[in-house]
Amino acid sequence: MSLLSIESLEVRHGLLRAVREVSFTVDEGEVVAMVGANGAGKSTLMRAVAGAHRPADGRIRLDGVDVTARRAHDRVAAGIALVPEGRRLFADLTVEENLLVASRVKRSGPWDLAAVLAAFPLLDGLLKRRAGNLSGGEQQAVAIGRALMTNPRLLLLDEVSLGLAPIVVDTLYQSLGTILSGGTTVLLVEQDLGRALGVSRRVLCMLEGRVVLDESADAVTREQVVDAYFGLSRAKGGGAANPATAVPEESEREPA
Ligand code: ATP
Repeated sequence: MSLLSIESLEVRHGLLRAVREVSFTVDEGEVVAMVGANGAGKSTLMRAVAGAHRPADGRIRLDGVDVTARRAHDRVAAGIALVPEGRRLFADLTVEENLLVASRVKRSGPWDLAAVLAAFPLLDGLLKRRAGNLSGGEQQAVAIGRALMTNPRLLLLDEVSLGLAPIVVDTLYQSLGTILSGGTTVLLVEQDLGRALGVSRRVLCMLEGRVVLDESADAVTREQVVDAYFGLSRAKGGGAANPATAVPEESEREPA
């Protein structure tokens, strides 16, 4: 059975349908990457799965149990942990306090303070530092560590590399490699397609609120993902844009 099952999910911001009739599943132990342009609905979807945004319609199931109506903290207790875009740490608390706050709703499992420090060597010696004084990469490591401290069954990572220098992202992804190889089920939003395909077994692409591509990372080509990202039906011989950096232009779209 799938660990996460999303059925016909509809999530709105006022009248805006940010997520439209989205359905997909994530199996236990699977790492699934989600890509898509700015505003495609990725963060809204992640927040809805975590319980931070109530869907207008549809169902979210964790291991077969309908959690759609559950509050965010109940979902953490059930095993869903979100590392939100922008990290959202308690800036005035220390690193240790940020990590320990999460363990108040801790499920039993392998993740504790020592395990987080082992996975993120860049946090070595920083436990007593205020989170607000850390670098972006260190803060992101704390944010991921905080989510791990709850011993999630499903880890949701929303753009962990956003705004960080490539060398810092490399370090974070090294740590993530350890976490992913440990069998944690992960749904991650990543704008860098190379990194997304590098760590995941499957890739989903969102466009204007819908999932327009859901393929195995081994089988899908970069061009297919780029086409889905831009909503294009590629002309033969067309050069592939880099979805990590490019912004879709109206002129690149096919006529409706
Ligand atoms: P990004 O990569 O820029 O974060 P995204 O794919 O995560 O993009 P969302 O942030 O989910 O997309 O946004 C989906 C749509 O919902 C966009 O049109 C966005 O402007 C809108 N939106 C997001 N948050 C809000 C909000 N709090 N209030 C109103 N509209 C919102």
